Amino acid sequence: MAKQLQAIRGMNDILPEQSPVWSWLEDNVRHILAQYGYREMRVPIVEFTNLFARGIGENTDVVEKEMYTFEDRGGDSLTLRPEATACCVRAGIQNGLFHNQQQRLWTSGPMFRYERPQKGRYRQFHQVSVETFGMDGPDIDAELILMTWNLWKRLGLDEHVTLELNTLADLESRKNYREALIAYLEQHKDALDEDSKRRMYVNPLRVLDSKDKGTQSILGEAPKLHDYMDDDSREHFARLCAILDDAGVKYVVNQRLVRGLDYYNRTVFEWITSALGSQGTVCGGGRYDGLVEQLGGKPTKACGFAMGMERLILLLETCNLVPEDVNKTVDAALVTFGDVGTYGMVFAEKLRQASPNLRLQVSCGGGSVKSQMKRADKSGADIALVIGEDEKQNGTVTVKFLRDDKPQITCTLEELVARGEISG
Ligand code: ATP
Ligand code: MG
Repeated sequence: MAKQLQAIRGMNDILPEQSPVWSWLEDNVRHILAQYGYREMRVPIVEFTNLFARGIGENTDVVEKEMYTFEDRGGDSLTLRPEATACCVRAGIQNGLFHNQQQRLWTSGPMFRYERPQKGRYRQFHQVSVETFGMDGPDIDAELILMTWNLWKRLGLDEHVTLELNTLADLESRKNYREALIAYLEQHKDALDEDSKRRMYVNPLRVLDSKDKGTQSILGEAPKLHDYMDDDSREHFARLCAILDDAGVKYVVNQRLVRGLDYYNRTVFEWITSALGSQGTVCGGGRYDGLVEQLGGKPTKACGFAMGMERLILLLETCNLVPEDVNKTVDAALVTFGDVGTYGMVFAEKLRQASPNLRLQVSCGGGSVKSQMKRADKSGADIALVIGEDEKQNGTVTVKFLRDDKPQITCTLEELVARGEISG
């Protein structure tokens, strides 16, 4: 027998039992984004490889070892997008969205990274990515954080996540800091993990982010970026913190927070939960003022974040925050028996016209009344609309209440709509 076909490891089907939770989360995200005046942009899933190599940074995990890169039939090197910020910047430059303009944009969809699949970490995963352009902050930085905070409150997650905040200062300060950090790490080279030994020259700030215990113990005494910070960045950070303080957002300043991608400067932040093990970051972002120019556009200030939808769903489920009724997709089920010909199908169509919000499922394929009623019950419907020869004869329908202890009624379609039994 042929081997059963399998999906690629780390690339998951979202089954019909799960998709309502996704839709519910996405609706909430859309609602919040609309509240702040953000506009959706849809960008391709595949781009030329050099966009990510140039945009994300050659010495990042993503570019070094996580990209799905292949040659197409024309010999071009293409990559399945590992994140969407570089894509939005490419699209914005190409379509003239940036120069002398302010933009508040968002995009969403699958991202691809060749990582070791585990809970909260997949090879195809989904992000909502929010990007702003043409605003130098710190008010827009604060707006992005406040927006995520509002989303957590709307979802009931605000008690389950904490905000970590840092500033990476400007390029010049980072350069000075980089030298100091390398000098310090060189003194303790033997105690560093292999990855950090390799990184300390190409991307020393990433060493700060190492999960290795030995490396972490050395970092306690390492020079601090904030001691090398330029005045403007210091002022920017202080004003951001003031807005968050006055708005009542709690945060922890974590000087080791650097984020995985190279393009950040000044503000960086992550929303973290302890409920998902080491896959604890549900949302991360910051300022990336250099990226537009780096990808060939005119200098454009930018700030954004991305949130991981799988991790958010895992967290919502872990905290029991998914409303019970999200899986309810049918309000009424239509059951027919006897020789009613086309009456049932036509009745259902008329009812859908008269009551557009009603979610009505017709029991297609017939079967005994008992088996149809069983299916109606399983569908989650509150009522069964039963049609037999009598109903056909009289132009009526019989309504059976599946969840309430109420006597059945027989009425016309107009009466049914007028009674409001089928709210929908
Ligand atoms: P991590 O440190 O967990 O690898 P990251 O810094 O690589 O995360 P980002 O590039 O900042 O992640 O992506 C933003 C968000 O997307 C993350 O906070 C996370 O919620 C989600 N995410 C990233 N990689 C994955 C993945 N492989 N599977 C599922 N979600 C992911
Ligand atoms: Mg990662």
